[in-house]
Amino acid sequence: MTTLYPTLEADLACPSRYVRTQLHKEPSLAPFASTALGKEVHGRIATSLRLGLPVNQGAFRLPRRVMLSEGEKLDDLLNRAQRGLARFEADYRPNLEGEAHRVEAFVEWKLELDGKPVRFVGKLDLLLGQEIWDWKTGNPGGSREQLRLYLFLAYGATGNPPRLARAVGLESGEEVVEPWSEEIIPWGYARLRRMQESLCTALANPKALNPGRACRYCPYAHACSASQAPGRYLLDTRTGEVTELAAQSLVTE
Ligand code: SF4
Repeated sequence: MTTLYPTLEADLACPSRYVRTQLHKEPSLAPFASTALGKEVHGRIATSLRLGLPVNQGAFRLPRRVMLSEGEKLDDLLNRAQRGLARFEADYRPNLEGEAHRVEAFVEWKLELDGKPVRFVGKLDLLLGQEIWDWKTGNPGGSREQLRLYLFLAYGATGNPPRLARAVGLESGEEVVEPWSEEIIPWGYARLRRMQESLCTALANPKALNPGRACRYCPYAHACSASQAPGRYLLDTRTGEVTELAAQSLVTE
């Protein structure tokens, strides 16, 4: 059975990166600081909502080594993460108190797509009645398609159309809201077919490289001859030592 999920197409932007990260789970030198902080923010919000307690706004504990992309500064990333938590605490948590909700809700829809069994799965940050909420540590501006896929997934998994999906920009306070519409049903099926085709193409050519936007946060970019990623640095969070990761050529097989 094929497993599809809402962010699969973004993962498949470069087949080689997808196969190495998602299928082979190859280790990387270090996580990106932005990714580690994003996970931490999501985790603290989920804990706060589960326990009905104020969100932990204490200092972040990062892994010993993190990767920074050119132009990123750890202090800026930490400040942004702190501002996101502060906004959640000030603007969102009080209104969610006492409301029935599910946090990090795993949703699964088993269906047949052109005669083939498919699992369409996803984890929803917050299910609040008929609303799906997605916390964004970055700009929520480009979230509309993802929100539509969440609506389609929730519709398929429960048999009931949700009311809307909302992306909440924790730093900016900007929100993107996508209401349910019947048009999402044929659109969603078309997207699943496209995902399935892209997946087949990637699995047939697991070493295919597709340099471009996918390279920026690709964990293997410094060792990929085709990379278009900006420079990257390894930061030792205890000593503050920074090492530039020189791009190597002709490393990929
Ligand atoms: S650096 Fe770019 S082209 Fe190379 S594997 Fe990563 S995403 Fe693909």
